[in-house]
Amino acid sequence: MINTKFSLRTMTQSLKHYDSINHQYRGTFMDRPIALMLILILLPCFLINITLALCTKRSLFSMQHRTDALSRPVILHNFSCGIWVKTAVLFDIYSGRISFCGIPLNHRLPPDLQFCVINQIKCRAGLFSLYDLHLRTGLAIMSKEQLLEQQLNGNAADYLALIIKSFMSVIFYGQAIKKFKKAKYLSLFGLNVKNTSMAEAVDWITQTPADKTQIGFFVNVHSINLSISDPTFFKQLSNANALFADGSGMRLAAKKAGFLLNGNNNGTDMLPHLCESCVESNQSLYFFGAKPGIAEQAANALCKQYPGLNIAGTKHGYNEDNNAEQIIESINNSGCDILLVAMGSPVQEQWLLEHRDKLHCKTALAVGGLFDFYSGNISRSPMWLREIGMEWVWRLLQEPRNKFNRYVIGNPLFLYRTFILGLVNTGEK
Ligand code: UDP
Repeated sequence: MINTKFSLRTMTQSLKHYDSINHQYRGTFMDRPIALMLILILLPCFLINITLALCTKRSLFSMQHRTDALSRPVILHNFSCGIWVKTAVLFDIYSGRISFCGIPLNHRLPPDLQFCVINQIKCRAGLFSLYDLHLRTGLAIMSKEQLLEQQLNGNAADYLALIIKSFMSVIFYGQAIKKFKKAKYLSLFGLNVKNTSMAEAVDWITQTPADKTQIGFFVNVHSINLSISDPTFFKQLSNANALFADGSGMRLAAKKAGFLLNGNNNGTDMLPHLCESCVESNQSLYFFGAKPGIAEQAANALCKQYPGLNIAGTKHGYNEDNNAEQIIESINNSGCDILLVAMGSPVQEQWLLEHRDKLHCKTALAVGGLFDFYSGNISRSPMWLREIGMEWVWRLLQEPRNKFNRYVIGNPLFLYRTFILGLVNTGEK
């Protein structure tokens, strides 16, 4: 019965009917050979650790007592001294006590879900999981339950891919559980950035009571680079009511400043949540920006996907005669609650701040190339690239000329400013 699908949703609806394990997590047969290969590669490091332990008369290993998401006790080995002490966990994997990928270690599932998993699938605790991977890169597109289901239904190739992606994301972002400070607001590069999960960001957009239009911007590597070389733009960003941290670069920068970001608040992942929230709360959107026809195409596609969604109007962003007054009149006449402006940084931010007092909508956001994605004009990067925080590589491949400066020059410059110059902490120019 190995090929039946592991399902949490149908199981939780009829708990009693499932009382036998009928599914096996595929791919775990790779654990021993991969662990052995890594042990051999790391042998010199292990020998140093063993020698150090013998010289200092310490025990070779220290034990870490953990509990997995199914409340099962798990013991992990660490070297008691030396370098890369945590790599001793490879012996736990080799001996079959845990897997590379499996049931997450750092989170607990609710009791009814624990029941479903335990009775349905044969699966050990894992060093890595799809949920941990999404948490580390701040993706907020699927629930914990959906991610577990997807992971445990994967085949051997998915298993290997998850190991590789997890290794890469640990190298890029470190472990998510380290003791970083948690704060509602972070000071990054001198800007007051909101540290919200995706759901909190959407709540701010749709539920904050406001007498006048509140402005929200997404700050990413590109806008930070612009703000450092252009004091006027820095001032404009500071004048927003909310700044959301967008992208993996901001995640790295926050960690450098000692903070853990709650989510990757980028506009593209946010839009589906925003549409759902607008349908529920009966609020309307207005799309302003992008090439002629694109905002309209995006609006049509979203209305099909979210029945009941009200897009009060659209307008393209190439207005040579600079007829801002007419555009504002059309936005206000539409009676929209939320305005999305997509003209690229810094134009969209400048436009919003210049005209905020004339706008009647509740919230206005600057959203970059958002409509290009949702109109289907530009394709979104494959999930595996997003999971390791490398979506920018896809955008660079799609528009190499346009995006060369932003990514090939901009990304290393951002890292230099963050890690070498330390501008993330001080915000000094
Ligand atoms: N754009 C516009 N008017 C302009 C210049 C650009 O409407 O005068 C649009 C452009 O068509 C694109 C968006 O602004 O849809 C900017 O996209 P970009 O890729 O720069 O945004 P990102 O998401 O990278 O911030």
